[in-house]
Amino acid sequence: DSQRETHHFQAEINQLLNLVINSLYSHKEIFLRELVSNASDALDKLRFRSVTEPELLGGESALEIHIIPDADKGTLTLEDTGIGMTHDELVKNLGTIAHSGSREFLDMVAQRGQKDVNLIGQFGVGFYSAYLVADRVEVVSRAAGQTQAWRWTSDAKGSFTVEPAERSTRGTSITLHLKEEQKEFLGEWRLRELIKQYSDYVSHPIHLEVKKTTGEGADAKTETKREVVNKASALWQRAKSEITDEQYQEFYKHLSHDWEAPLAWTHFRTEGNQVFTGLLFVPKHPPFDLNSQEQRGVRLFVKRVLIMDRCEEMLPQWLRFVRGVVDSDDLPLNVSRELLQDSAVVQGIRKHVTKKTLDMLEKLAKDKPEDYRTFWQAFGPVLKEGLAVDQEYREKIGSLLRYESSREEGLTSLADYVSRMKEGQEAIYYVFGETRKAVVDSPHLEALKKRGYEVLYMTDPVDEWASQGLKDFQGKPLVSAMHADLKLKETDEEKREKEERAKGLGPLAEKMKEVLKEQVREVRASDRLTDSPCCLVVPEGGSHAFVERLLRERGR
Ligand code: ADP
Ligand code: MG
Repeated sequence: DSQRETHHFQAEINQLLNLVINSLYSHKEIFLRELVSNASDALDKLRFRSVTEPELLGGESALEIHIIPDADKGTLTLEDTGIGMTHDELVKNLGTIAHSGSREFLDMVAQRGQKDVNLIGQFGVGFYSAYLVADRVEVVSRAAGQTQAWRWTSDAKGSFTVEPAERSTRGTSITLHLKEEQKEFLGEWRLRELIKQYSDYVSHPIHLEVKKTTGEGADAKTETKREVVNKASALWQRAKSEITDEQYQEFYKHLSHDWEAPLAWTHFRTEGNQVFTGLLFVPKHPPFDLNSQEQRGVRLFVKRVLIMDRCEEMLPQWLRFVRGVVDSDDLPLNVSRELLQDSAVVQGIRKHVTKKTLDMLEKLAKDKPEDYRTFWQAFGPVLKEGLAVDQEYREKIGSLLRYESSREEGLTSLADYVSRMKEGQEAIYYVFGETRKAVVDSPHLEALKKRGYEVLYMTDPVDEWASQGLKDFQGKPLVSAMHADLKLKETDEEKREKEERAKGLGPLAEKMKEVLKEQVREVRASDRLTDSPCCLVVPEGGSHAFVERLLRERGR
């Protein structure tokens, strides 16, 4: 056929296809979740575009997904009435454009092994999971607003073809020619079970074609019927009491493409000034690109219509690990980026969402300290950024902080520290360092230890910067043990000792200054040391030695 074009897969996609099609990964059923999620995205996109371009619907407003098993042909077909793809989009989206995710996915599997093939969707290459179960895939698609349809076909052996095709309605159908050993995915009950498990939260109806036999013997009649097998309503719009933990967890996995359940979630609806629903999750572990800008934000809906996949305006930067959904009744459907950036409605939502998130973390810390520790390990450094950049939430973040301390009993909160403060102790003391070992052995601690004062160990690179935002907690100032003007209440005996020492050490200090010249600003007798002969301190306004080293290493 002269109209058939052959294209070659981009190199990394080719590698990825090889990996997938030969995979021994045992949970191959995840392909269904990925393809249904693509269909659902395509329907969301159409609904969004049709707000301003109603003609795209072309008189057919049904937004549906159909799943059609065909035992005779050995095929499973997924159909949607979504946005569809043009010729160029088929070529681009399904084979020739390298997503950064394909390389990253390959690296991840090389490193962590087949058990994580599951994560394919997180890397933006979920479509290719079709080749876990199929040795040939056919995609027929007609873009909304167009009359011509196109067929994409590939057996994943280096190339794919594209040719004109017939299709009476807009949307996409994907036909999987199942591998011999994957025919279980034609079974009605297997499909029902999988849709329930993975796709119940999908807010569009999923119709499954089933065969019903009625009558017996010669009178037996078999007819095909399509049944809706999911709930097909936006999960966050259902009443909390009607949602099980498993449903929240599956919904989270759908949203985030995570394979693990979340640590915590909060689901709320506000009334009053702004009407909106929020459903927010804290993951168990960081995604592979926590610090990438694209990974920020929550899904923004306006009156159930998906507006944006990652709306970063809904949350501050230091809560970028939060996943979830915000569905506003007040924003206009045609809301733009610019409008989001200076909208009072958005400000209001953001404030509320931030508060709800911090409340959720506080509750997690109180009710499930083990889980909170997991959270802290994964996202503590990100949360701490908030101290430095957001004065408004200082107090709340302060109560979520955890540090190791000289008490040597694992992490402590500031509140617990304060409750253990010795009589006469006026401040919360901390010491910075690159490693635990460095701080434990720090001579700066001696005077404090002698008094039995607990010292917090700040060993996270972000600590020095972040803790500047936390001047005090529960009325107690935070004081660095390294700070030169550290003043401790002295006993009379100490005062006497110190005066004598200073007298005796005067000539030595002078001599040292001569020798060290401009390497030091000053040499002083100190009342801080008990075991070590000397230590370096930071003058008022100077930065800590280890931070200076850090900055030097990064070439600042
Ligand atoms: P992702 O969904 O993360 O973008 P996928 O590999 O699952 O990555 O899909 C790649 C792209 O192919 C999608 O972004 C979309 O543009 C297109 N696509 C896949 N399935 C469909 C579909 N059913 N309808 C329209 N476009 C689709
Ligand atoms: Mg996808």
